[in-house]
Amino acid sequence: MGGLVVCDELFADARLYDYLLAIDRDLARCARRAGCPRCGGRLDSATYPRKPRGGPARALKAQQPRRLSFCCARCHKRMTPPSVRFLGRRVYYGAVLVLACLKALTGERVIELKALLGVDRRTLRRWRQWWREEFVHSAWWRVEKARFSPALDHDRLPGSLLERFTGALEPPLVALLKFLSPRSTRSA
Ligand SMILES: [Zn+2]
Repeated sequence: MGGLVVCDELFADARLYDYLLAIDRDLARCARRAGCPRCGGRLDSATYPRKPRGGPARALKAQQPRRLSFCCARCHKRMTPPSVRFLGRRVYYGAVLVLACLKALTGERVIELKALLGVDRRTLRRWRQWWREEFVHSAWWRVEKARFSPALDHDRLPGSLLERFTGALEPPLVALLKFLSPRSTRSA
């Protein structure tokens, strides 16, 4: 994992989550400027609360994280822009789904992640399975994987994908979450 600085401190790094929130605000601003994708109407803010797990403790106490979202003033349809914080309806932060699946799932690692996130082996297995089965067979990935050459090792996801984002201007984890952000919504 040359050049990759990924450690367990990131799981609860408040600066990381603040940074991701700033990116989400940018993504939302762009979506709002474009207007309603259905009718071109004005988009009004219609955020909703989320209770994501696995992030910094202070965020849970101080303010409830909200999913940035809009409602069209004309056709009243909801428009939810891409997010680097939430991966669809998943309860845990997207960053957690990446970080928790980087290392081999040894007995020791299961104990570490249980202490960090309160998740059990079964959940960790499910996440791993999500990357290596659901993710790799998604229509979205079948298109996107073409931009990676040589082809990614699917058995090492998400680590094999994260490695491809070293050398970006941003930290690889942030660049990867940006890449995944269209998957965070059905509106995109
Ligand atoms: Zn509309």
